[in-house]
Amino acid sequence: MNGRQFKDFYKILGVDRNASQEEIKRAYFNLAKKYHPDRNPGNKEAEEKMKEINEAYEVLRDPKKRREYDQGFDFFSQGFRPGGFGFEDIGFSDFFSPFGDIFDIFTGFERTRPSASRRGRDLSVTIRISFEDAYRGVTTRVPISREVDCPVCGGSGARVGTTSKRCPDCQGRGYVAIAQGPFSISRTCPRCMGVGTIIENPCPNCRGTGKSTETQKVTVKVPAGIDDGAKIRLKNMGEPGLRGGPPGDLYLNVRVSPHPFFKRENSDILLDLPLSFTEAALGTNIRIPTVNGEVTLKIPAGTQNDQVFRIRGKGFPQVGRFGRGDMLVKVKVSVPKNLSRQERELLKKFAEINRENPRSSWPSKH
Ligand SMILES: [Zn+2]
Ligand SMILES: [Zn+2]
Repeated sequence: MNGRQFKDFYKILGVDRNASQEEIKRAYFNLAKKYHPDRNPGNKEAEEKMKEINEAYEVLRDPKKRREYDQGFDFFSQGFRPGGFGFEDIGFSDFFSPFGDIFDIFTGFERTRPSASRRGRDLSVTIRISFEDAYRGVTTRVPISREVDCPVCGGSGARVGTTSKRCPDCQGRGYVAIAQGPFSISRTCPRCMGVGTIIENPCPNCRGTGKSTETQKVTVKVPAGIDDGAKIRLKNMGEPGLRGGPPGDLYLNVRVSPHPFFKRENSDILLDLPLSFTEAALGTNIRIPTVNGEVTLKIPAGTQNDQVFRIRGKGFPQVGRFGRGDMLVKVKVSVPKNLSRQERELLKKFAEINRENPRSSWPSKH
């Protein structure tokens, strides 16, 4: 199909440009009935026509898309996929419209049908790990609650030894026709909720739902360097698929507990280093804690407040890449508050002989 061709969707559906949404829907259903491949087996032309009709309806059924189309918007240049709709984005109520055999109409289009297999739902679970575990990586067991087929009835929902029977209200079709004005509207059967069968003797374990919740511990490897808020996807670890469909995925939301004095910034670790003003003035060697033991940091004489020392390679490993972040140690000079008489005397003497003016860069009158 030429994706960039601008087609007259109104003409394809055989409706006027001012047609109401209801008229468009009716025109679509009538054409769909006529050109559906099931009614035209092996007819390539009908198949092409059906694709075209779907494409046109997909745009015109949506008032927003229709408006954009009317304004000459070229959907195909925007990555719009013609014919790419299934039951999910149409909505059931929208679909059980002027005629009942809509499921019939869409066979041959690989659409999701209620009776078809379906991929299991994705699950998501939050795990909390320590700062140190995020640094080193950790293997942990996570309890996961999954909806599985009831082990007692095997998922049928019927008490063992009994079976479900065809719903008498809808004869197993799952929908019922209700006359409404000139149309016969199909609705989901209220008795069987669209399943087509009813259970007279429900399984006591699942109360007829056929489902039960199973909690299983799953072993999860959290890689070293993982950051707070990261998501890990475990393929096929979600809920089992329906009627042979593939299982869903499991998403782990990783929360990392804060550390009492380390902070993380990307792959670097930040640490505030309190120093007395004499340590900062005279210089010293300080034992610095890291997540992996201690290192010695040389503080040179004349170190200033907020000065940052970088200890290379002591940060977090970078997930999926080589290398590590650094540790950034920021000096916080502490000024003594409770001076003894002797300390005060010594500092006064120091002040008398100290020639350094910290405000030397200011205008001289200050
Ligand atoms: Zn059961
Ligand atoms: Zn029914």
